[in-house]
Amino acid sequence: MTVHTTRMLIIGSGPAGLTAAIYGARAGMQPIVVQGLQPGGQLTITTDVENYPGFRDVIQGPWLMQEMQAQAEHVGTRMLWDTITSVDLSSHPFRAFGDSGDVYEGDTVVIATGAQAKWLGVPGEQELGGKGVSACATCDGFFYRGKKVVVIGGGNTAVEEALYLTNHSQDVTLIHRRNTLRAEKILQDRLEANPHVSTLWHKKVERFLHDEATGALRALLLTDTITGEQSEFDAQGAFVAIGHAPATELFKGQLELDDSGYIVVQPGTPKTAIPGVFACGDVMDHTYRQAVTAAGTGCMAALDAERFLAEREFENIKAAAEVG
Ligand code: FAD
Ligand code: NAP
Repeated sequence: MTVHTTRMLIIGSGPAGLTAAIYGARAGMQPIVVQGLQPGGQLTITTDVENYPGFRDVIQGPWLMQEMQAQAEHVGTRMLWDTITSVDLSSHPFRAFGDSGDVYEGDTVVIATGAQAKWLGVPGEQELGGKGVSACATCDGFFYRGKKVVVIGGGNTAVEEALYLTNHSQDVTLIHRRNTLRAEKILQDRLEANPHVSTLWHKKVERFLHDEATGALRALLLTDTITGEQSEFDAQGAFVAIGHAPATELFKGQLELDDSGYIVVQPGTPKTAIPGVFACGDVMDHTYRQAVTAAGTGCMAALDAERFLAEREFENIKAAAEVG
């Protein structure tokens, strides 16, 4: 068992964690990033990324994350391959315990464990990721310009995704397993008023079907939840929008979580209720959930962590001077 100590312990290696690392390392905080099971985060499971600023041409998600990691290491970040299984945020230094048996001690902690889109778990879904099946209309909607697309789900996310997709397609169908939506009334009203969205009620997705020639999504096999009847529904794009799960299990009982499990931060900041503990990226943001916003809040977390330590060190010097 090894004890790793740092002024800034970052849990998670997606855009939020790696941006915090770049800023933290450049501020001389010698950050440690514990990478978790998905080094590079969610963008490593996508292909084309077209909305991360700075790149005129389409870039690949895994490549972007490799570059971010290389940049973080170049300025002095230590990347460690481990997964945190529990934390103790009740006293200084904060402690995190790795699956490897190693212990991580941080004067500050930046939580950047992200969130994962929930998937249906039906055949074809994972195989057609990037080839017709997606969980993010803002990210991938553009690639389905002028095509026939569906959204699966009945909550706010699904309705927002369906409405967003009408910017790109005039043929959007919302498929829901019941005939009432959970989405807020105002969103339902907008959905009804939009001539480019239709709804298909009482339908459960059984599998995603691919085109033999292109290997891309061709149709969805659906079962009617009332009659049990099966049917095929043609679509070139399918957006699964059945919710997201933030990776916050670790922090239950130590940090305040909202009703959906996201870490509660002071509005407009990455500060949690525990001074010195910060949360950034998708783990605290159920609204925007973009790489650039995750990176932005990662930057904010590092700047606030640096300020926190500077203030604490100043207080210590002042207290020592008063005693002396
Ligand atoms: P994540 O990227 O989710 O990273 C979380 C990190 O935490 C991972 O490294 C994981 O290993 C680590 N972790 C989790 N638990 C632990 C633990 N217990 N111990 C240690 N580490 C842990 N956004 C865009 O802006 N443009 C796009 O084109 C785009 N396309 C997308 C396509 C897909 C298919 C998906 C799923 C998302 C897409 N997004 C896109 C959204 C974007 O990927 C996320 O908003 C962004 O990755 C969030 O960054 P994050 O750093 O907060 O978390
Ligand atoms: P949600 O409210 O939990 O809705 C998930 C939807 O997916 C439900 O309609 C559910 O169906 C359906 N679903 C779940 N599992 C399914 C499965 N296996 N097969 C088929 N359908 C399935 O999730 P969300 O829409 O992501 O919202 C999560 C939270 O974020 C909510 O609190 C929401 O208000 C909030 N949010 C707010 C905004 C906003 O304010 N603008 C935007 C997005 C999200 P059933 O209805 O049948 O259960």
